[in-house]
Amino acid sequence: MLKTSSCMTLPKKLLAFQSVNTSILRQLVSLNGQWPITCTFNHNCTLNHFKEIEERWKPILNEKWKNYSKTVDTTSENHRYVLSMFPYPSGSLHLGHVRIYTTTDVLTRFFRQRGNSVVNPMGWDSFGLPAENAALERSMSPAIWTYQNIKTMEAQLKSLGLNLNWREATSDLSFYRWTQWLFLQLFNEGLIFKSMSCVNWDPVDKTVLADDQVDEDGKSWRSGAKVEKRFLRQWNIKISAFHDELYQFKDVNLNNQAWKELAANQKFFLGEPDTYIFYLNYGKNILPILCDFPEYLAVDGSYIAVNKDHWILESRNPESIKVINPLSNQEMEVRVLNEEDQDKLPSSGRAIILHPDKPISENLRDSVLRDCTKLGLGGYKTSKKSHDWVISRQRYWGTPIPIIDCPSCGPVAVPTADLPVALPQVKDINPLYELEEKDAIKGRLGLVAPKEWLDVNCPKCNRPSVRETDTCDTFFDSSWYYLRYATEPSDSQAFDKETNRKPVHLYVGGAEHSRGHLLYARYIFHFLKSRGFIDSSSNEPFRNLLFLGYVLGRTIKYNDRFITEDEQQKLIDSKKVSPDDFVISCEKMSKSKGNGLDPMQLIDRYGIDATRVTLLGFGLPRRAREWHGHKTEYEEIFVILRRLFLTIDQFIFVRELLNETKTAPVVKRFVISREKDQTKIESILTKYDHERKKTIKKVTSVIENEHYPALGVNMLKIFLNLIRKSILNVDVCKKIEFERCLGDIIIMLGPVIPHLAEECWSGFCSAADQKAHKSYYDFQKLVCEQKWPEP
Ligand SMILES: [Zn+2]
Repeated sequence: MLKTSSCMTLPKKLLAFQSVNTSILRQLVSLNGQWPITCTFNHNCTLNHFKEIEERWKPILNEKWKNYSKTVDTTSENHRYVLSMFPYPSGSLHLGHVRIYTTTDVLTRFFRQRGNSVVNPMGWDSFGLPAENAALERSMSPAIWTYQNIKTMEAQLKSLGLNLNWREATSDLSFYRWTQWLFLQLFNEGLIFKSMSCVNWDPVDKTVLADDQVDEDGKSWRSGAKVEKRFLRQWNIKISAFHDELYQFKDVNLNNQAWKELAANQKFFLGEPDTYIFYLNYGKNILPILCDFPEYLAVDGSYIAVNKDHWILESRNPESIKVINPLSNQEMEVRVLNEEDQDKLPSSGRAIILHPDKPISENLRDSVLRDCTKLGLGGYKTSKKSHDWVISRQRYWGTPIPIIDCPSCGPVAVPTADLPVALPQVKDINPLYELEEKDAIKGRLGLVAPKEWLDVNCPKCNRPSVRETDTCDTFFDSSWYYLRYATEPSDSQAFDKETNRKPVHLYVGGAEHSRGHLLYARYIFHFLKSRGFIDSSSNEPFRNLLFLGYVLGRTIKYNDRFITEDEQQKLIDSKKVSPDDFVISCEKMSKSKGNGLDPMQLIDRYGIDATRVTLLGFGLPRRAREWHGHKTEYEEIFVILRRLFLTIDQFIFVRELLNETKTAPVVKRFVISREKDQTKIESILTKYDHERKKTIKKVTSVIENEHYPALGVNMLKIFLNLIRKSILNVDVCKKIEFERCLGDIIIMLGPVIPHLAEECWSGFCSAADQKAHKSYYDFQKLVCEQKWPEP
């Protein structure tokens, strides 16, 4: 029934275990409630044995999670919403993903045992340029490419045995129907507008990039091409409308390290409020203009100053430009800022209202701001550093912007009853190859969409019009998903208001999202809250944040060439090279450096639970996790796991011995000791009990407050080593206090090694004094259903 392991690279210590007596392997105690007495156990748990345990428990635990999820009350006081940043379906999971999802999974199991009601949703950030390009390379539709990847990656995630609540992908019609709804709420409030904008243009991918998709050298994050500036008509969101809320960080949990870092980072990025912004009409465009003294709008002599690269100057001289002051209905003069005055504007392509004499009047200011707010012309307090959020892309694979472009009415919202605007299915993607820039600027959706999709009548005046062919930036899709993921998706609303009364308890992801994604998610939260769509008790959408460091791989260079660990082993085995011939370093994982690791291969080799602990790493969660090769990484955790299994076996052995009869002799597989001195026994047990309470407190705190479960494992290892000193001392080991220590250790290891802990729990239950622990443990239930120990 059991296969012996073969061709696995194992640390030397483990090989020693493995070579002993592989013919008699241990059986699973959970299969029949007891280990057979004929088993000469020698703690030689092989990798296959661990994996067999995982295979046995995985479906049982999945079923438990499914049933549990049905009973979760998302509105209860003790509800906990734990969320990982959802993945982009690139085709395969990487170690960084698995590190993030393992962390949230541990926290989910922990909260569940603490008596909380918990959800841990998972879905896909599935629109975007990478899918579109990958699909083009393969001559297939982006939808087919994306959904194939989702299928593969979903299977990979399922094989990890994670406790997840599955949700929609952002490219599902049922999801983006509500992304369109959100777009229209902003549109109706005048917070989203189409106008000429200065954008980052990637000449290779022929597309607009967000600011944070351009690196410090001004190159595209994907193509590596030097990014150019282009003036294009784009959809913008008025970030400054909530500059105040975004800058204030009310309700930030300052005990949370990541929040503190994020607040400092975003404050720097947004800038301290030092000016006001107005949005004036200029032909078909909207002209955002900064103004330090709003009263300039109410006095004569004020003029508009622009940088020399402002789009308004495109093929025009300043004298011919007419911008109407909305308060006086008078024309305002446009001037180009002198070289020496350019620093009045912080970045290129911007405009400011100035006055030669600086007439300042606080009384006038209030009335100007009041009038401009009424007219929807802005007047928001903002900073010179802050920028509007360009959210449109000229791509095919994205959420279609639900707008109809009418020749007489301008942009008109698609009526709610006509939502969703489904992305047309394309069979022929040929027009997307070898795009001319003029077509790329117009947009790929416009090139492939059928005429009957494009041509519609204006909902206002019924004149023949065309659909907007820009699609949304994927940052817009992901700016609100956490609200929808809080509950099972509904067809009748974007998200559940009741559940979102409380912020997400813990949001886990990479620090690289602390500016882009987390700024946009906060913006949408403040917008929805201000308009009553959310009735949150908090002024921030996330209670706790956790940014996990990258997983760095060990690179091995030999003769100036990167080689893999296996190649290095071969060279060492050939005895032709010395260890000094290799140059070892730690870098971000990549295929070209030969240091990429496939998490599925690791799981296949070493099992789920060992890989979970190994990936969490014993270092701080936010620090980069350096991978020093499998042997080094797994050695420590296998020592802990084997020691745990040996402890359970010895625990059972002592009890078999105590119940031994002449007709049922026990195989003497361990040497026991005795302690006759009652005072000494008492003192040992008092010490253990004291340590038990201390360990419970510490482990609970590092998981709950620091989100650092690996440190908890380390504490439990130390405690296990302590009580192991008496595991074969019959007079101590048989005591209830001792049993309580061991039971609590297994329960607290449960969230981290869920499968192996169940097996240990079965062993523990088969021998422990069930009556004595009746009010403490529920022996009819699994370890994942036990209450978290109280000190
Ligand atoms: Zn119209």
